[in-house]
Amino acid sequence: MEIRDRCKLCKRIVNIGDIDYNELTCKRVNGKLEFTHINCWVEVEFAKKANKNTKKKLVENAKRRAQKYKADIDHLIVSKRLVHWLGGAYSAVSIPKWIISNIEDIGAGVYKNISSPIPLSDLFEMWQRYKHELDRIALYNQNKGKDMGMQGAKRMNYDLAILVNKYDDFVEWRESERARKLAHDEEIKNKRNDVNYDKLASTKKKSKKEDKDDFKIEDILDDIWGGEIWL
Ligand SMILES: [Zn+2]
Repeated sequence: MEIRDRCKLCKRIVNIGDIDYNELTCKRVNGKLEFTHINCWVEVEFAKKANKNTKKKLVENAKRRAQKYKADIDHLIVSKRLVHWLGGAYSAVSIPKWIISNIEDIGAGVYKNISSPIPLSDLFEMWQRYKHELDRIALYNQNKGKDMGMQGAKRMNYDLAILVNKYDDFVEWRESERARKLAHDEEIKNKRNDVNYDKLASTKKKSKKEDKDDFKIEDILDDIWGGEIWL
């Protein structure tokens, strides 16, 4: 997904969504990630009087710096993707800042009643997976006359609270799914090994048979000429 930002130096639009670490670098300024083209940054740094580095060295530095922020960049990308997805899933033209702030608090582990951060990638995965369940809950509440105007941002926040509440269950479920998949893969692998074993056994048999029938010129000559080779 394209996530637009601007190079802080040349002001051209850059795509953070599919970030190319050979093209862009970034740094944190006042808590916010700022992106620049590596080339733009290198030119500026190289022109500085105090600079003692070669351009090659500066490029390396810029790349290393971007790698240092990789986790932060990933977080930013997921956060932007989640907000974009929410807009579509809840037919909202825009997502209020206080919802985004709640989401960020969850990611940082400072949201009410949570003991540790929930990675936004997990929250996003959960939200997508359980959206139809959340819709059912909303419909249920509506039918019971309990929705109290629960639409738009209010509904998003209500759903967010449900997801946070269900996070431990989700992690447990995902672990058991992983274990199940692992066991399944293992079973398939074992089956494949059995097949391979059978194949191997038949190949062995076959090769033994082949050995027996093998055309060995020495043996034949031995039979015919009593070991003397007239060739
Ligand atoms: Zn630039």
